[in-house]
Formats: sequence, C-alpha cells, structure tokens
Amino acid sequence: MSDFLERLLSHDRYVITTHIRPDGDAIGSQLALGRFLGALGKDVLLVNHDPAPDNLAWLPGTDEIFVFDGALALRERIDAATAFIIVDTNGKDRIGSVSGPLDAGTFETFLIDHHTSPETWFDVARVQDTASSTGEMIYDIIAAHDASLIDTPIAEALYTAIMTDTGSFRFNSVTPHVHRIVADLLERGDISPAPIHTALYDSRSLAGLRLLSRALDTITLAHDGQVAYMMVTLRVMRELGASSDEMEGFVSYALSVEGVKAAVIFLEISTGVKMSFRSKADTYVHEWARHFGGGGHRNASGAFAKSPLDPLVRDVIEAAPRFLDLNTGTNTGPLSGDDADYLALLKQKFHAS
Ligand code: 5GP
Ligand code: MN
Repeated sequence: MSDFLERLLSHDRYVITTHIRPDGDAIGSQLALGRFLGALGKDVLLVNHDPAPDNLAWLPGTDEIFVFDGALALRERIDAATAFIIVDTNGKDRIGSVSGPLDAGTFETFLIDHHTSPETWFDVARVQDTASSTGEMIYDIIAAHDASLIDTPIAEALYTAIMTDTGSFRFNSVTPHVHRIVADLLERGDISPAPIHTALYDSRSLAGLRLLSRALDTITLAHDGQVAYMMVTLRVMRELGASSDEMEGFVSYALSVEGVKAAVIFLEISTGVKMSFRSKADTYVHEWARHFGGGGHRNASGAFAKSPLDPLVRDVIEAAPRFLDLNTGTNTGPLSGDDADYLALLKQKFHAS
C-alpha cells in the first residue's frame, strides 16, 4: 500500500472517472476519492460519460461531476491534469467518451478496482477482486494515509458505495473487515444508515413500481427451474414513462425464486439490449456474461448487445448450461471431497426433511 499511496499522492492535478451508467459504488468511490485528494490540497476534476442516476443525486458533490461533452474548456482542464484515475471498472471501453481525452493527453494512469481481468495498460494498478466494492478499497487507501480525513460526505459516499455493491451487506464478499469499515464510517462521519437506505431504495416513483410489476410478470424459468429471466421492453418503458434507472434491483426478484441459481434481466433500449446477470453463492455468471461481450463479478455481471430482444434472449438462455454448473439430474458436475462433504452438511442443515 505505501508504494501505491506514494505514487498516488505524488501529483497535484487529477482527473477521476468511472464507468458508463455509473452505480452507487462508481459514484460513491469517485466522490470519496476526489474529496480525500481535495482535502490534501490537490486539484481534482471528476468527469464521467453519463450523469449520476437520480437516486444518487442527494450525495454531496454529485452536482460537481462533469459529464464529458467534448467541450474545449473541459478538454483543457482535463489536459492540465497529470494523473488520470479510473475507479470501479478496468477497461477503456467502459469509460465511454472519457477515453477520448485520456488517449489524447499525457498522464500517469491509475486503476483502482475490484473486477477480475483488468486491462494491462495502466501505469499503476491497485486491483483486489476479492474486495466487496471499490468503496472498500478507497476506504483502505484513505485510512492508510489519514483516517481522520473521513468526514460526513466521504462517509456517506463510501457507505453508499459499499452498501449498493454488497446488496445491502448480504453477498459473499462481505467480510468482518467490511463491517469494521462500515462501523468506522458511521462513527467518523456521524451518519446513520436509515436515511441512506431510504434515499436509495424507498424512493421509487409510482411509474417505477408499475414497471416492476410488469417486469415481474415476465419472469420465466428455464433449465429445470435453475435459471430465471425477465425482460423490460422499450414499449413498456415508454408506455409507463419510467426511466431505466428505476430498474436497479429488479433482477434480484428473479434470483429470489426458490431453486433458481442464476437470473438475467434483459432491458431493451433504443440502441440494443442491456443485460444484468446475478447468481446465488456458488454459481458464477461472469463467464456467461463475458461470452456475450460483457463482464463483471462472479455473482453480478452485465453485458450489452446490439441485437433484437427475442433472438438474444433465446441465445443467452440456451447458452446458460455451458457456463453455469447446473444440476442436470444425471450429472451434478465433479465435486472435490471437501466440497461434497460441505454440500452434504448444508443439505442436512437446511433441507432436513
Ligand atoms: P449491472 O448489472 O448492475 O449493470 O452490472 C453488474 C456488474 O457487471 C458491474 O460490476 C459492472 O461493472 C459489470 N457490467 C455491467 N455491464 C457491463 C458491460 O456491458 N460490460 C462489462 N464488461 N461489464 C459490465
Ligand atoms: Mn463496484
């Protein structure tokens, strides 16, 4: 960490960006890192391809994030930086239009991220694919330098980052370290969780809720009930006047069906179809998503395809068994002795009847 910190803090002017269609971890990590560097007297510019979603607008500082529009003044400000930091994604195509000024300028490039298989062009990369969130990594960076810099806005940003990327602290990635971080954020920032949860999850519009109801109606099971999928068509979106931001979390309803190991939601937009893949504990969806041009984490991945909805759904669902370890009835896949013992224990514990 100390070598990394030294390199990171050796600049005076920074640009920080994150991925297209940013989520809570992306925006929260970006804001917290920017505020930390700002507190050290650095000049920091936050620039993204897309604006922050509406449900994150309350986070202090979101209004200071520029959306890259190619304007000369913004290009000049980016060019004046010497350090270019990408958080919460590890590929150039995932930062959208912001890759333009990145390629055009001269920077020391930094990666801070928790996804697998990073691209290799970064000058300095800090990658922890076991971290629950980029927010967790940003906390560790700040704490390694001076935890007393964690003020209320940093605490809110990091709490949001960690909470959203852990499904409110329920994924496998949640460790004692994550909970210690959260305890420290609550204390140092003097914040409480309830208003943040409310702002993020209890602030749906009625149109968004109706959209959920329509999406739930489409849930379909495949592969002996082990794969679930759902979809939202452009037609339904337009009819209800709902925005795609409102679909955050929809896919978890499909995943919550008993016996389902993996779920996908297909969101039709004007340029193609956005897919979100989710899975329960030991089922991994990242290779499945990667096969369709996307990527992400073992239990949460995404992809985008420029193809019509129906054939895409068919292809993606048909391909599932090639990437998921599904029970076929005849072959449950090779298990190591330890795994088999553990599985037997779990079955005994939870399916005693
Ligand atoms: P979500 O389903 O919430 O959009 O994304 C879940 C995870 O998959 C995120 O960690 C995100 O970085 C990754 N992801 C989402 N969409 C894409 C995509 O189009 N390409 C790649 N490589 N990763 C994606
Ligand atoms: Mn993340």
